[in-house]
Amino acid sequence: MAMLQNILKIKERITQAAVRAHRDPNSVRLIAVVKEASLEQVKALVDLGLSDLAENYAQQLVKKFEIAPNATWHFIGRIQTNKVKYIVPRCEYIHSVCREEEIVEIDRIASKLKKVQKILIEVNVSGEESKAGVEPEEISRLLNFAKNFSSIEVVGLMTMAPLVEDAEQVRWVFRKLRQMRDEIAKEWPSVVHLSMGMTNDFEVAIEEGATMVRIGRAILKGG
Ligand SMILES: *Cc1c(COP(=O)(O)O)cnc(C)c1O
Repeated sequence: MAMLQNILKIKERITQAAVRAHRDPNSVRLIAVVKEASLEQVKALVDLGLSDLAENYAQQLVKKFEIAPNATWHFIGRIQTNKVKYIVPRCEYIHSVCREEEIVEIDRIASKLKKVQKILIEVNVSGEESKAGVEPEEISRLLNFAKNFSSIEVVGLMTMAPLVEDAEQVRWVFRKLRQMRDEIAKEWPSVVHLSMGMTNDFEVAIEEGATMVRIGRAILKGG
């Protein structure tokens, strides 16, 4: 079973990266990104013991949630406000929040469900134009906006690093997000999580403090 081997290898690499950084390996949550997984693969991942799954697309989330209703679900894609009603009832965390109108709609749906929705603010650390996320200078503005909504709790920051050959080239991105988190947490103690690190760069992200890594290809295809 190739996926089992892949998962075991990733878990070992997570542990080693944590140990290198003198961190507890259990402080890093492995989130399996299923945007390229079939329904059968989603079922297999759960059977193999993965408890945290992430999806980028609301419609796919609805389908895959049916297969794995007991997993902890994370939403990591661009948020369309008319799809928030499908996301909030299913996801414990929404990682990709970057606009005020998303906060308004998430709060509206969450309050109907008598739920406090945990969200992370996506930050465009690298400044690439193609990247989603707020500019670093805008994080405070969004936090101040979000505090007016009682059905939302901001629990962390998320980023995607540029695609590079060598993950060392994006270490600065992860380090910078951690520094932002440390600074922000002085005023906003609920902001603890750092969702950063994917197949190509998760070990460097863990060395820089990631508490959640979002891994797709390395689980499904190896590498
Ligand atoms: C696809 C995706 C991932 C996983 O990327 P891999 O390279 O497949 O590990 C993580 N985060 C986001 C936001 C994604 O869209």
